[in-house]
Amino acid sequence: MQNRLKKTIIEEVDRLKPDLIDICMTIHSNPEVKFKEFKAVEVLTTFLKKNDFEVTQGIGGLETAFNAVFEGSGDGPTVAFLAEYDALPQMGHACGHNIAGTASVGAAVALKKVAADSIGKIVLVGTPAEEGGGGKIILIEKGLFKDIDLAMMIHPSNKTRIVRLMLAVVEIVFVFHGKAAHAAAYPHEGINALDGVILTFNNINALRQQLKDEARIHGIITEGGYAPNIIPERASAEFYVRALKEKYFKEVVEKVKECARGAAMATGTKLDIKMGELTYRPFKPNYTLAEIFRDNLSLLNIKEDPGDEKGDMGSSDIGNLSQTIPTIHADICICDDEVVCHSPGFRDAAISEKGMKGMITGAKMLALTSLDIFRSPEKMDMIRKEFKRN
Ligand SMILES: [Zn+2]
Ligand SMILES: [Zn+2]
Repeated sequence: MQNRLKKTIIEEVDRLKPDLIDICMTIHSNPEVKFKEFKAVEVLTTFLKKNDFEVTQGIGGLETAFNAVFEGSGDGPTVAFLAEYDALPQMGHACGHNIAGTASVGAAVALKKVAADSIGKIVLVGTPAEEGGGGKIILIEKGLFKDIDLAMMIHPSNKTRIVRLMLAVVEIVFVFHGKAAHAAAYPHEGINALDGVILTFNNINALRQQLKDEARIHGIITEGGYAPNIIPERASAEFYVRALKEKYFKEVVEKVKECARGAAMATGTKLDIKMGELTYRPFKPNYTLAEIFRDNLSLLNIKEDPGDEKGDMGSSDIGNLSQTIPTIHADICICDDEVVCHSPGFRDAAISEKGMKGMITGAKMLALTSLDIFRSPEKMDMIRKEFKRN
């Protein structure tokens, strides 16, 4: 029975393939940045409506967020497939969210085909602004995930890897206030705000040696004065601070602030610290869920690439969701190893033949994994238990 249903899902995704490729390419050729993804939302929701999903756009107060519901049978778990669809500024779909979003939509529609034989509810959640807007964090805060038991998505990558950890991240802006003066005639009258910024960088570079491997601190100078003959009265820098474990992350954030405070003290400047509104939390893996996904990968004869789950760690708003409900965020390979995301090469891969193949594989994987959960309350139990235990 299970195998027959799985065969039906695989065939259904293959039947939907021309439509899915069309959607995926349309989103790729109309890149839209955070919170402006109107065209992508239109293409995805049109397809969902055509396939009997009940669509609500503008959820959580975000115009380009939506959900699409297919009420299944019985009182089984509710699974959310997450669709990302935002592009990067200047670079288009160099993170391949056209693939991530389309795969989830394909999975939701294909899973509907076996709804009569599986108990559970399918919700497709359209989550805007992964790149710097924290769409998922806003939707969590607005309670949009409170009736959902688990969440799944795939992300294109240069590797196929089921679990990849992610770092917590927060933005910190340091603004130094000094006093302007003629730099040659009255240097003793001035207070140099740019020196506050420069010393902050130097202090952080000294701190770096004392940090654990998992920490990342990187920044840019955003204001540094107007002319060499004016002592800069105002200067600022923007940093991202990241770490893998939340407790350590908080410690590192505090140390970075101390670096700026020390710089202010040394230069006699006044310092304002502005913390970013959103903190991306680290990714909390669910290995029970990952194992089900892994079994389906072997069913399709796809090999997981070797590698450490701590390799190539970035950050994503999916981290926050993974701390709220059991979540899977699997990488599906769409290009050679030397092509990295957020590059023009990856943008090309996101519309290549291999990219489309990855999208179709992703849709199958998500639907098959969900079917296993819908048909096995014990599996859902184990997933919940692991989530609570950790
Ligand atoms: Zn990205
Ligand atoms: Zn991404």
